[in-house]
Amino acid sequence: MSRDLDDTHDPDLESFLASAQKSAFPIQNLPFGVFRRAGTDEAFRGCVAIGDQVVDLLAVQASGGLGSADDALALTVGETLNPFMDAGSEASGALRRALVSALRKGSTREEQLRGCLVAMSAAEFALPARVGDYTDFYTSVHHATNIGRLFRPDNPLLPNYKWIPIGYHGRSSSVIVSGAPIPRPRGQKRPSDGAPPFGLSSRLDYELELGVYIGRGNALGTPIGIGDAEDHAFGVSLLNDWSARDIQAWEYQPLGPFLGKNFATSVSPFIVTMEALAPFRSGFSRNADDPQPLAYLTSNENSSAGALDISLEVELTTTRSRAEGSAPFSLGKSSYGHAYWTLAQMITHHTVNGCNLRAGDLLGTGTLSGPDAGSEGALIELTKSGREPITLPNGETRSFLEDGDEVILRGHCEREGFARIGLGEVRGRIVG
Ligand code: CA
Repeated sequence: MSRDLDDTHDPDLESFLASAQKSAFPIQNLPFGVFRRAGTDEAFRGCVAIGDQVVDLLAVQASGGLGSADDALALTVGETLNPFMDAGSEASGALRRALVSALRKGSTREEQLRGCLVAMSAAEFALPARVGDYTDFYTSVHHATNIGRLFRPDNPLLPNYKWIPIGYHGRSSSVIVSGAPIPRPRGQKRPSDGAPPFGLSSRLDYELELGVYIGRGNALGTPIGIGDAEDHAFGVSLLNDWSARDIQAWEYQPLGPFLGKNFATSVSPFIVTMEALAPFRSGFSRNADDPQPLAYLTSNENSSAGALDISLEVELTTTRSRAEGSAPFSLGKSSYGHAYWTLAQMITHHTVNGCNLRAGDLLGTGTLSGPDAGSEGALIELTKSGREPITLPNGETRSFLEDGDEVILRGHCEREGFARIGLGEVRGRIVG
């Protein structure tokens, strides 16, 4: 099910590019994105990140290609990575091996590849895929319980939660890449009495999530079994599911989230592939007093290695903190390891009724809050729905986000015996 470890994960492997060593993007990572030189009208095309550079994959092709991986390389040079994603793990694995070989110290292709590097600081990024469909799950039981307690104090966790990977269909048109501004939404808000007030949201929030991009899709009517689920995953990015809690609270029953969620969803520019994540697997298990998942959501491999250890962090800057020159303030640290349902279970459950997924579709994990104080993945949890504002290190207080606030999500994986890899960051600033 999961991609295997091979010599591309060797921690001693180094690139000829010095900035790659000890960066978020060492040669063992090579996440994919779509870029062009900033301030130009060049066509966007595929790239991989290494150190403080990106490798322009169109330039690699134009300068002679990569030999055995040229078929896969050709799928990455267009304006989206959907064709590459659709080609499955054979293509992503082949291109990864060829790029590692080309970028390593002593590579015979060093001169060719050096000619294909563009400084990340001189690049602008687009969405890495055309996202046909976006589905947001709810896989942290800690978030579900915390939120449930705020919305329904007497009944925080609904009885289906421990049986079904809960999700809803989001909106793909408003999935945007890191750095795009977040206009404050307006709408109907929950009234205390009588007619609902209408206006700008005053309870704007972030959600710390991961996004899973689908690789090869499945035919309508043909479910993806749990044993095959990860073969249909391309990789993982950071995802911020911006949420207007006052709009959400008024509209969410009976059919679930709508305008409180669909105004913006930010993703990081790079997708860390399932191949790069191979060293960071861990076991998935349930507490003995919780129900075990139904058989279609169970496999030996999912139990032994279905979870991914990805460390996550939320940071905030404000108009004032930036003027003061402060470093971003940390609002919380968490881990994908806290999820109640695995990536494979999300994919399998999504298709069990015959629903088809397509290359480039995006699955959100849901807010990945952990069990402890300090691991909250949203302000609504951190401030107890705004009742207990937090005080920032510079003395400002926050119940929810204010205009000018910028939220930065970061992620990385580390394990003894392997190179640490980063997911980069996704940031978005609230504009009034
Ligand atoms: Ca969400």
